[in-house]
Amino acid sequence: MLTCDAYLTPRTLEDAFAAMGEHAGQYRLVAGATDILPWAREGRAGDVHVPVLIDLTRIPDLHERRVESGRVRLGAATPIQRFLDDEMLVTALPCMPRCAVWFADDQIRESATIGGNLVNASPAADGMPPLIAHDAAVELASRRKGKVERRTVSLADFVTGPSRTLITADEIMVAIECDALPGYGGSFEKVGHRRSLVISTVCLATLVKLDARKRRIEDVRLAIAGIGPVPRRLSDVESFLRGGEMTAERIERAAEMPVNLVQSRTRQAYRREVVRGFVIRGLVNAAARAGADLNHITPELEASYA
Ligand SMILES: Cc1cc2nc3c(=O)[nH]c(=O)nc-3n(C[C@H](O)[C@H](O)[C@H](O)COP(=O)(O)OP(=O)(O)OC[C@H]3O[C@@H](n4cnc5c(N)ncnc54)[C@H](O)[C@@H]3O)c2cc1C
Repeated sequence: MLTCDAYLTPRTLEDAFAAMGEHAGQYRLVAGATDILPWAREGRAGDVHVPVLIDLTRIPDLHERRVESGRVRLGAATPIQRFLDDEMLVTALPCMPRCAVWFADDQIRESATIGGNLVNASPAADGMPPLIAHDAAVELASRRKGKVERRTVSLADFVTGPSRTLITADEIMVAIECDALPGYGGSFEKVGHRRSLVISTVCLATLVKLDARKRRIEDVRLAIAGIGPVPRRLSDVESFLRGGEMTAERIERAAEMPVNLVQSRTRQAYRREVVRGFVIRGLVNAAARAGADLNHITPELEASYA
């Protein structure tokens, strides 16, 4: 069980930093608490007493949501559920609704925040691949010499290993900024140990933009988690596919390319098979949502990822 002596709910970044300064070495930041609470359960970290919990979810800066000049600005305390019900986000981030729909359940999605997911940095955190595919950067704030300072780090660099990131103990993740990609088709493929409330073993985000005839791939982005210590873009696969047509042969060749990137020591052969199948399925699903007519190739491809 998680216990504390004080539960603080600052209403501004300044107040949060004041609380962090006053209780230095004694506090823990919290947003939806959907990672912290299970962690503090007996059998994980054991019973945990934190003198001061500082809840960041009442700070307006962490709830900003807007699209400007082709970039989305997303407050770190945005609940995962907003990726399903905020039309602006659904349009700008086409694979996030697919990611969110398989994320926990309705109740947890209302509490769990995107910032908490990124800071927790589980090896297969579902929020990572879609945002890396959107070229996301995270904004981190701290208070130095009495002034709030901010730095921006690309999300791909932010994660340095399983549950390890570049955030320091005195920093708050304020926002995430990433490319708005309206008109792209998005998909999110995920597999885990059970059917519902599942934490991913491997997950893949795919974004496809087609030309006006809906045949040639104008742009494609793929990012994967669960095959190595950190999530990553599949840049070689993207370069191979970009500019070409959606043929069964090209999709199958693309799917073979990342198979040897699997570094995880557990269930290697299985993960390789999953990667191959996910790339095929991700491309087919994303291209179909971008308007491609794939009737001629899907039966052939379905056989190779069934
Ligand atoms: C039943 C269940 C199902 C789940 N299913 C999924 C799933 O399908 N996919 C998935 O990826 N995850 C899943 N999770 C894990 C969890 O819900 C997510 O990782 C969630 O996004 C964490 O966000 P949070 O706001 O609850 O984080 P919290 O638990 O509040 O915090 C997590 C960590 O981040 C830090 N933190 C949070 N916000 C900030 C901030 N703004 N600045 C600095 N530090 C911060 C906290 O100090 C803490 O260390 C599941 C959890 C449960 C209990």
